[in-house]
Amino acid sequence: MLPFDYQRPHDVDAALAAADANARFVGGGTNLLDLMKSGIERPHVLIDINHLGLGRVQETAAGVRIGAAVRNSDLANHSLIRTRYPLLSQALLAGASPQLRNMATVGGNLMQRTRCDYFVDPGFEHCNKRKPGSGCAALHGSNRTHALFGASDACVAVNPSDMNVALLALGARVNVRGKSGERSIPIGEFHRLPGDRPERDTTLEPGELIVSVDLPASTYARHSHYLKLRERASYAFALVSVAVGLNVADGTIQDGRIVLGGVAHAPWLAERASQELSGKSLAQIDGAKIAELALDGARPLAQNAYKVPLAKAAVQRALDRARAAT
Ligand code: SF4
Repeated sequence: MLPFDYQRPHDVDAALAAADANARFVGGGTNLLDLMKSGIERPHVLIDINHLGLGRVQETAAGVRIGAAVRNSDLANHSLIRTRYPLLSQALLAGASPQLRNMATVGGNLMQRTRCDYFVDPGFEHCNKRKPGSGCAALHGSNRTHALFGASDACVAVNPSDMNVALLALGARVNVRGKSGERSIPIGEFHRLPGDRPERDTTLEPGELIVSVDLPASTYARHSHYLKLRERASYAFALVSVAVGLNVADGTIQDGRIVLGGVAHAPWLAERASQELSGKSLAQIDGAKIAELALDGARPLAQNAYKVPLAKAAVQRALDRARAAT
């Protein structure tokens, strides 16, 4: 690991003042420090965000505000989240291991980088995300865990987070601050598709700091489910995952959301499948039809076609669990 400076500011303004293009904000460091050890990230200064007053979960008039430094374990087990946003609690508890969840923060989870083998191992020469312009080894190489949707010839990697999938289903907003002010980014605009700039995972500008995440008042608390399918029961990334939320009133689904994880460079909203839910009773849901719609347009690579039937089965099972939930 290259030498680096460490700063521990005590307010957001001081943290922003310390940030330049070669600085990185650090919360739990569970992803960033691994990348630094392998030389993939090379910041000259780490700015610790754990003493900026960003560690609270608060009820607001519109819903709940979650500080960027809240630990994943604390968030998953918070009473407001367990009772009003069980989908988020389930997704958080599906991620990583207890030890990692105890350290990892909300801000860091939003910024998690892909686990594409070619990205995390600097011994591989061709990775546009790690080394822009070098090519994409996964495109015609080992790609069994890679994207079905939204990929480009420049990158076929997937976003590894469980939390991000639930946040998209719940309609979260990411609040950020930079030297030029504040802005609030809908979660669906926070993570980017790769296009020809796969080195950029998000729409965050250099020097901007995630300060909080806002969740609108939940309409999915009663009927929701997060299902993660992976190669072992814990401490593994999703091959595919599904977040389902159903807003049911008077026996009818007013609106619903189906979001897929492990299939794109960003959490993937299955729009047509989600629209198909509206106006149906729980008993009228045709899971097979909705699963077909959710995977419509998937473009498998040479080694990941198995994800299509896997994701269809996951959508149907998650729907069944969401409608059976009380
Ligand atoms: Fe790199 Fe993306 Fe290609 Fe993986 S899929 S090798 S991260 S450019």
